[in-house]
Amino acid sequence: ITKNNNETETLENRRAKVIQQAQEYYYQEPMNLVRGWQQYLIADDGRVYLDAINNVAHIGHSHPKVVDAATKQLKKLNTNARFLYEDNIDYAERLLKYFPESLQVIFYTCTGSEANDLALRLARAYTNQNDVLVIDGEYHGNTTAVDEISTNLMDNPTASKSVRPFTHPLIQPNTFRGKYIAKTPNLSELYAQDALDKINYIHSQGRGIAAFISESLLGSGGGVEMPKEYLKKVYEHVHNAGGVCIADEVQIGFGRMGSHFWGFQKEGVLPDIVTLGKPMGNGHPISAVITTQKIADAYRKKYTYFNTFAGNPVSCQIANAVLDVIEEEKLQENAAIVGNFLKQELEKLIDEFESVGAVYGHAMYLGVDLVTDKKSRKPDSQKALWISEAMKQRGIIIYPTGDYYNILKIKPPMCFTKENAIFLVETLRTILSKMED
Ligand code: PMP
Repeated sequence: ITKNNNETETLENRRAKVIQQAQEYYYQEPMNLVRGWQQYLIADDGRVYLDAINNVAHIGHSHPKVVDAATKQLKKLNTNARFLYEDNIDYAERLLKYFPESLQVIFYTCTGSEANDLALRLARAYTNQNDVLVIDGEYHGNTTAVDEISTNLMDNPTASKSVRPFTHPLIQPNTFRGKYIAKTPNLSELYAQDALDKINYIHSQGRGIAAFISESLLGSGGGVEMPKEYLKKVYEHVHNAGGVCIADEVQIGFGRMGSHFWGFQKEGVLPDIVTLGKPMGNGHPISAVITTQKIADAYRKKYTYFNTFAGNPVSCQIANAVLDVIEEEKLQENAAIVGNFLKQELEKLIDEFESVGAVYGHAMYLGVDLVTDKKSRKPDSQKALWISEAMKQRGIIIYPTGDYYNILKIKPPMCFTKENAIFLVETLRTILSKMED
């Protein structure tokens, strides 16, 4: 309950009146959050929640280094990105060191959607083609152009209406509930064949392929890891057909994969364009597109790109502080250690409970697939919602995702500890026991 104009009204009601929000986390009694600190969120009643979902607060909520960087820069200079200043150059030079040599040009943007939108424009300008391969069930953002290539019905309820004839969704390579399941021989070839078939179809229509866009671990799919070599094979088909490959690192980048700084490195592929977002500014809207000089030049011959806020001095100082903290606090290493431990512990639940079908993911991006029963593997979204509610009551924020909304997503701030992981798994175990009883 909160006060507004001398009336007492719930915050939810006030929100519903003035904000047209398309998607939100639904709890029977949503908490009113007033403070974030490290991997914790605090409500107005003083209750502390373990945040197991916030990959935007990558280095932890309210990190003092980010607060300092923003405050100092706000006092000094913030400006429209048309001017010459050092902050965006310094940060670009630093960030590009995290990339392979061929990826040497940066465009600043403000959101993941803008980054993917621009990535598509770059690919289309470079190839003079329009058709795009995507992985079915993925989400790449909210502008008109990326809406047209996002087929995830949960993140993008308009998907079935807005996906266009030039968008070609590939069968999602999920080896638990996909077309081909684990232990099938030549899994990656079978799934990658779909890319070749779609490319052949595009050619048969007298057109060519502009791009293949994908995450290197399927975020909206619930944290699904693709079969080994799958991405390599699809990249090969796309490159042979003259298309460019876009790696969407908006969800999974900046060390979350533990073993690698970027998801595409884990899959051993070399994209032509990489898009960054969410964790880059730890909650502050800064994102980017990284590409090759050749692609950037092809684009510049046809178009210019301007974005008022993108790469402004404050945003760049914040992004710089984020990299400082990832390095100083060894958060990539922590993602590997804690994430791998958490995945192992979650996997134990598969043998213990009929409702737990599979555990997906890598390091600090995981998903727990809930089923009605092991034999049918039927996705159970009711259980996922019920468990999320029960976890919240016990002080943990976790929420469903995936094509069927039956996968609990786990992608916490990277300062998540082993103790947090144990608390999460023990709480989930208690709830699953009660539920199955
Ligand atoms: N790409 C992926 C993989 C995403 O998950 C999202 C957001 N969920 C986006 C792009 C869009 O990012 P934003 O919401 O910052 O526009």
